[in-house]
Amino acid sequence: ETVLDIQTIRKDFPILNREVNGKPLVYLDNAATSQTPQQVIDVIVDYYQNYNANIHRGVHALSQEATDKYEQARQKIQKHFNAGKGYEIIFTSGTTHGINLVANGFSSLLKKGDEILVSAMEHHSNIVPWQMLCERTGAVLKVIPMNEEGELLMDEYSKLLSERTKLVFCNHISNALGTINPIEEIIEKAHAVNAAVLIDGAQAAPHVKADMQALDVDFYTVSAHKMCGPTGVGALYGKEEWLNKLPPYQGGGEMIAEVTFEKTTYADLPHKFEAGTPNICGGIAFGAALDYMNAIGFDAIAAYEHELLEYATEQLLSIEGLRIYGTAKHKTSVISFNIGGIHPYDIGTILDKLGIAVRTGHHCAQPIMDFYKIPGTVRASFSFYNTKEEADALVSGVERARNMLL
Ligand code: PMP
Repeated sequence: ETVLDIQTIRKDFPILNREVNGKPLVYLDNAATSQTPQQVIDVIVDYYQNYNANIHRGVHALSQEATDKYEQARQKIQKHFNAGKGYEIIFTSGTTHGINLVANGFSSLLKKGDEILVSAMEHHSNIVPWQMLCERTGAVLKVIPMNEEGELLMDEYSKLLSERTKLVFCNHISNALGTINPIEEIIEKAHAVNAAVLIDGAQAAPHVKADMQALDVDFYTVSAHKMCGPTGVGALYGKEEWLNKLPPYQGGGEMIAEVTFEKTTYADLPHKFEAGTPNICGGIAFGAALDYMNAIGFDAIAAYEHELLEYATEQLLSIEGLRIYGTAKHKTSVISFNIGGIHPYDIGTILDKLGIAVRTGHHCAQPIMDFYKIPGTVRASFSFYNTKEEADALVSGVERARNMLL
């Protein structure tokens, strides 16, 4: 049984008190975006009420205050992910931005015939940028296959690796299936052939604390909005040696050392990759979200979410004809399912009428749906502020939908 006081935690999230369609909200779409605690909302309000200013270039007090808070947030992110240096943390607008920044940078480092490996369970944001990169460079994209349970075939991965492999991309946790991928092994094997590794941590960051130095990963991306922070901000961790090798992604203010019309020299890390006025308030709020989650504790969060996963899985499987996609041994609190030939959208619509928020569709991972030969799934994703009573509400809602639709 959990050590967390869930009812007290729930009081931190004002949105959980609202009703949807006349029913109490049951929010089970946490893999799409998480809800925001009052402590983080307060930080956002405080910024705009008291010290809103542009950063890094002002001599006045407000600018200094905003700069200090923003840089403190970077330090919090560095500490949380155990990055060796603060300037290895690049503020981005989110995971998608971080991946595109790296993909763009590699344009100048790849040549025809080089190979990029991606896993079969990637989000579109981790497929499309690499396809674009391959088009630009003549590099070839290869796919690490998976089994019916939604686990990567590590022997096949080993066979795909060669001296032609320059990059490996994989999510830490799959948003569509919940699979926790063996990234330690993926990184180690890639490094054995001198390939760089980018891990998409968008789905992992809300559940597990990844240690950049222990993993020895080259790049790791996260989005604040999946971990109790605001939308439009995230972070890219990059090893110093790689960030120095990659050219800047965008040109503009803040990213230069010196500009003349003949030539521009770039600023040092991290500013080389942070052109323009950033999401200052968002960055500061991201730091506050990490404080909030760390105060609860990631071990307690993971243990409780696992309880919820096991409970909800067992209850859902008692519904006749319900099939869960993604039954990996190691998975987080994401349950993707279908019932017979019922379209996931129809189940989602009935659940919404009952105040229950789930996601339906392909979850930006069409190759996974093609693998299972389905148009999509219903996906319920649990966070640490969800309860067993909410899992019960989901189960009875799904039963009701089944009876109406079959
Ligand atoms: N990768 C994964 C695994 C995701 O789940 C998501 C968000 N659904 C993304 C990347 C993209 O994140 P963002 O939209 O915040 O850039």
